Formats: sequence, structure tokens, C-alpha cells
Amino acid sequence: MKDTFKHQGMRQKLVDTLVKKGIKDKKVLAAIGKIPRHLFMDSGFIDHAYQDKAFPIAADQTISQPYTVAFQSELMEVNLGDKVLEIGTGSGYQTAVLLELGAKVFSVERQKELFKKTSKFLPKLGYRAKKLIFGDGYKGLLEEAPFKSIIVTAGAPFVPKPLLAQLDIGGRLIIPVGDATQIMTLFIRKGPKEFEKHELGEFRFVPLLEDKN
Ligand code: SAH
Repeated sequence: MKDTFKHQGMRQKLVDTLVKKGIKDKKVLAAIGKIPRHLFMDSGFIDHAYQDKAFPIAADQTISQPYTVAFQSELMEVNLGDKVLEIGTGSGYQTAVLLELGAKVFSVERQKELFKKTSKFLPKLGYRAKKLIFGDGYKGLLEEAPFKSIIVTAGAPFVPKPLLAQLDIGGRLIIPVGDATQIMTLFIRKGPKEFEKHELGEFRFVPLLEDKN
């Protein structure tokens, strides 16, 4: 597990690319500039770790494209100590970004293999989520609700009601909605039953899967 000057240089170039693509949040950019993404990837893809692309990880899943990670993280508007929920832990890269932003992170993953692998790996890098959960993200995480923000990192065919219900008033849900391609959608909870909805462009994710457990 090595992080070299070469990796740091490539990371800085990636950050420059993200700035050019429109990412503005300094804290998000700093997190991406700091986290050794190559260590989150299978060895076959390490040389490509700092390209702005998604890559395969275990169990037919992907580590999200850095631009997508930055775009979603920026929308979460994380403040220090915010309680946040991530659906789809995957490689743990997005989890690490949220931890760098100072959030208290709860993250749910439904693939056992990935859950086990990432649960072991993140602490090795010093990234300590409040809790990594093996379970179904469609249900959210009722016992820890409400959350300041919730991020879904897989394409959802519809917006799961529990996720909206588990937001704080003022809280934000960032979720890609759709089948083959998804519309990045931001919901802001304005009141107990009142949500503001923003649609923010097209993305492509692996699907949020149902009925695994
Ligand atoms: N945040 C991850 C992205 C992984 S891809 C990263 O940065 O690497 C999306 C992840 O969502 C996959 O790991 C997939 O197994 C998981 N997933 C799919 N459906 C899910 C569900 N219903 N509940 C929880 N996780 C789910």
C-alpha cells in the first residue's frame, strides 16, 4: 500500500481536470487531492486510477468516476460533524471523501464480498466510518435517522420513500434516478411533507438492486 510522489502528481492533475469540468467546492477538491484512489482499485487498473473514469471493482460493481463523486459530494454541502448516509459503499472511495469532509458516515452495502473487503480496508487507511452496514439501501437506516444528507451511489429505478423520510428538515438527498441512464436528482426537505426537487443532468451508474437479502 504505497502512495508515491508520482501518485500525488497524477492526483493533482485529476483535481485540475475536475476544476475545468466545473467542480468548485474547495474541500471536495482537497479531499480528492488527498485520497489515494489507486489503493481502492484492483491491481489491474491501478495505472488508470487518476483518469476521470469509473472502473470495475469486485462483484461486478464499479468505483464511481471522480467527477461524479465530486459532483454528488458538492451537492451534499457537508459541514463538520454532519450525520450522513451513503447507499452503496462499494470500494469505500466515496465514503473516504465524506470522512475527509468531516462527516459522521453511515454506509450501506448489499454485496457481502464488497462489504467485507471494504470494512477491512478503510480502517487500514485510517478512514473510520461510524458504521458500515451489510444490508438493503432501499430501506435507508431507520435506527440512525434523521440524516443531514443521504447519497445514493447506484442508479435507482425510483426514489425509495424511506430515504426521503429519513432526512432532517433542511436535509438533502442526492440520488441518480432512472434505468439505463439516470438523472441526478436533489431533494431538499423543506418541511415534514414538503420537498423541493432539482434535476441536475444525466449520469450512468450500476443499478441499485432489490431483494438481495
Ligand atoms: N460509492 C461506491 C460506488 C460503488 S457502485 C464507490 O465509490 O466505490 C454502487 C454500489 O451500490 C455497489 O457496490 C453495489 O453493490 C451497491 N448497491 C446496489 N444496490 C444496493 C442496495 N439495494 N443497497 C445497498 N447497496 C447497493
